[in-house]
Amino acid sequence: VTRPAEPLDAPFYAGCQDPVLNNTARASAVLLMLARNSEVDGATASVRSVQEQFNDNFGYPWVFLNDEEWSEEFKEKVGQAVGKEGNVEFKQIPKKMWGYPDWIDQDKAKANMQVMKDKKIQYGGLESYHHMCRFQSGFFFDHPALLPYKYYWRVEPNIRFTCALTYDPFVSMQAHKKRYGYNIALWERGQTVPSLFRKLSDFKSAHYLPTSPLWTAMIDASYMPWPFRRALAWLRNRDGNGDLWNMCHFWSNFEIADLDFFRSDAYRKVFEYLDKDGGFYYERWGDAPVHSLAAAMLLKPEELHHFSDLGYIHDGLQYCTFQSTQEEKKRGFGMPPGISGKGHGKIEGREEVGCRCQCDPDARVVEP
Ligand code: GDP
Ligand code: MN
Repeated sequence: VTRPAEPLDAPFYAGCQDPVLNNTARASAVLLMLARNSEVDGATASVRSVQEQFNDNFGYPWVFLNDEEWSEEFKEKVGQAVGKEGNVEFKQIPKKMWGYPDWIDQDKAKANMQVMKDKKIQYGGLESYHHMCRFQSGFFFDHPALLPYKYYWRVEPNIRFTCALTYDPFVSMQAHKKRYGYNIALWERGQTVPSLFRKLSDFKSAHYLPTSPLWTAMIDASYMPWPFRRALAWLRNRDGNGDLWNMCHFWSNFEIADLDFFRSDAYRKVFEYLDKDGGFYYERWGDAPVHSLAAAMLLKPEELHHFSDLGYIHDGLQYCTFQSTQEEKKRGFGMPPGISGKGHGKIEGREEVGCRCQCDPDARVVEP
């Protein structure tokens, strides 16, 4: 008798943990939000959602980061949203982590930004957005306020969870040796990262890094005969072999990750190489494709976790939890699931799993 293989990446728990599974020792972990003072309402809403659906039961600390000084209003309103018992820090980002490094040709950067603006590439013309993506790619994990922690959960203004999370995801990440957790995977806009895949692939070859199944999963499977592929190698989002990145990436506005992955020599080398190249400014590399392709290059498939039990909404995209189809179940909840993009990102009627979770964007799910 052959038994079905253990799913590679099943949810940590099926259904609601009732009572809430919060009696284990807390992990070394923090909730992190980068925001602007002007986003006070969106930030407050996000904090309320995370608190209600999760953190009122777990009491993890929050760190809020800003490139500017925090307004009194922000600190007061957001502090209140966390609650009296909460452990909250409002910190500024050191200048050396935010802004042009000295090797960037700022005239070229600005000229390219103008071109991106004219081409209507989202945020392409917005200088601060480029600084933000560089910070979120290469610096947040070294911010002094994060140094005490091993795991982090990234929260953005204007996000919402539609499911209660009734176990400790950090403890589970640790127990399962997971290093990178995501919820939504979707396709990047190629115009923002025309040369990123090629450069990372060159880096991978230069350092003789093995090709993990995750990396392969990022490559478009619609193969062409070799000579044709090679001939296309100079085109955007193709590597030296002519392989095409399928643009799949993890949407990093939600992330639960092991900060020591980002702090590893391997990741730092990748970031330094990209940073020297200048694509954070000459193109509009987002931190999402950078995190994703680095994870695909450096992590083992079993070190990734799809939080398929989280209902999550941001910017008009929503992930609804689902009891996978039998087919997906056999494949171990389809991991690498996001990699195919299937069932992600769009509001879709799906059978649901546990946790009084609904796909109704207006659903309020509050713990009993
Ligand atoms: P999108 O998710 O790519 O559409 O971009 P967002 O506008 O949501 O920005 C991503 C994250 O970076 C959010 O947490 C924002 O609050 C934050 N952010 C973006 N630009 C800035 C900035 O100039 N200063 C600060 N402090 N935060 C920023
Ligand atoms: Mn966002």
